[in-house]
Amino acid sequence: MSAWFPFHGGVKTVRHKTESSQRPIQPGLLPSRLVVPLHQHVGATAKPMVQPGDRVLKGQMIGQADGYVSAAVHAPTSGRIMAVDQQPVPHPSGLPDWCVTLETDGEDHWIERKPLDYRRLHPSDLRNAIRNAGVVGLGGAVFPSAVKMNLSGHCERLDHLILNGAECEPWMSCDDLIMRERAAEIVAGIHIMVHVLNPHQVLIGIEDDKPEAIAAMNAACAGTGYQVCPVPTRYPSGGAKQLTKLLTNKEAPVNGRSTDIGVQCFNVATAYTLHRAVNHGEPVISRIVTVTGQVAHPQNIDALLGTAFADLIAQCGGYSDGVERLIMGGPMMGFALHRDDVPVTKATNCILAASARELTLEQPVMPCIRCGDCVDVCPADLLPQQLYWYARAKEFDKARDHHLFSCIECGCCSYVCPSHIPLVQYYRYAKNEIWAREKEKQQAELARQRHRARMERLEREKQEREAKLRQKAPPSRAELVVVPGTGISERNG
Ligand code: SF4
Ligand code: SF4
Repeated sequence: MSAWFPFHGGVKTVRHKTESSQRPIQPGLLPSRLVVPLHQHVGATAKPMVQPGDRVLKGQMIGQADGYVSAAVHAPTSGRIMAVDQQPVPHPSGLPDWCVTLETDGEDHWIERKPLDYRRLHPSDLRNAIRNAGVVGLGGAVFPSAVKMNLSGHCERLDHLILNGAECEPWMSCDDLIMRERAAEIVAGIHIMVHVLNPHQVLIGIEDDKPEAIAAMNAACAGTGYQVCPVPTRYPSGGAKQLTKLLTNKEAPVNGRSTDIGVQCFNVATAYTLHRAVNHGEPVISRIVTVTGQVAHPQNIDALLGTAFADLIAQCGGYSDGVERLIMGGPMMGFALHRDDVPVTKATNCILAASARELTLEQPVMPCIRCGDCVDVCPADLLPQQLYWYARAKEFDKARDHHLFSCIECGCCSYVCPSHIPLVQYYRYAKNEIWAREKEKQQAELARQRHRARMERLEREKQEREAKLRQKAPPSRAELVVVPGTGISERNG
């Protein structure tokens, strides 16, 4: 497909892709210890199924999906469970979370792997198997794929199934490499999606700065009818809404779902893991991570989940000079970490050892000069400087009225701001404040409902007690009659 439909805004970024994309994907080393978080996806935390001392095999489920929007977690290798407790995890909050710590035994001994004949399975059974295999979106959003593969209540069948291989974020090359090296397996995963979602059209969007990936995917798609669609290299073409617009000219309504316009979008790495899970019976226990920036040998590593970032940095020859901060994700949408002993999760697409230049720490923040550059580049058609003023003044209701929650935190506005204002940080702050207040309101309402329910229960119990007392009381004299000639009293009626 050669036609594409431009989205509003966006920026041309400095790419920095070649630093990590010149080497083939390297297998991750097997560390002596893996720390596997139980919450690696959107939705409910997986319920632990092991305890300290248990022996587990590679691929064995150690955390069970807890409900519909959740995903299972598995042992990335064989070994012994050391602990189930709270450990540091890579999260913007910096807070610890529940993890299973595994001492590896070096045997790498698999469970029995059972491939599925997905064409014979009922769709709901297939979705359960996908949830139990821990398949989630590997583009960074980690939304459970089983949920996205259920159209009931949304639409009969999809118009477009979109595979996202755009990878627009600077420095990152994990999707580029997986498409170059594992294109046939990605296409095998797409076949499974097609079987469930029955789309009219399958479109694979790839930025045109990845000629090798485009060639590999074209070769793998030959004869399938799936269309590989090169799109211009313009950030954030890999945003689901932006890629949908580029490929189909469709736009999801504000606060609507992509399925409302007959579109569903998956990352190419997700299709790969879906294939491994269904056709090989291998749950998600590893992912490809770009390790780049100020490290001796930037590269992509197929890392076991739970591997410490520090181990991957060491595998890349260690830090070079000038590292200011570690970032998980890219410089545009990633977040800073304050330690490198946190584990790789399903969301870890990139570890960037950033210098002060990548972090734009060199330039001082100046006042807004109302130049409007941020408006021109906003792909969500927002007024970024207005949102900034509202967030700064803590006028959160006004920020919400100006569609704060349509902001995809792409960072285009911060990127072009001549005053170097960290705009996205203000939006995240405002969103967190609004969520916190909403939560407070909900808790207060819940407390009110509980109080009302308690008062009603007490009143009900009081009335029941009084009714019982009335039943037990001796009949009044008016209710008694004397049976003539006997002198015996009997209850009247
Ligand atoms: S780009 Fe920066 S300086 Fe210009 S209007 Fe937006 S916030 Fe203000
Ligand atoms: S971060 Fe938000 S406000 Fe800024 S350009 Fe992106 S979508 Fe627009």
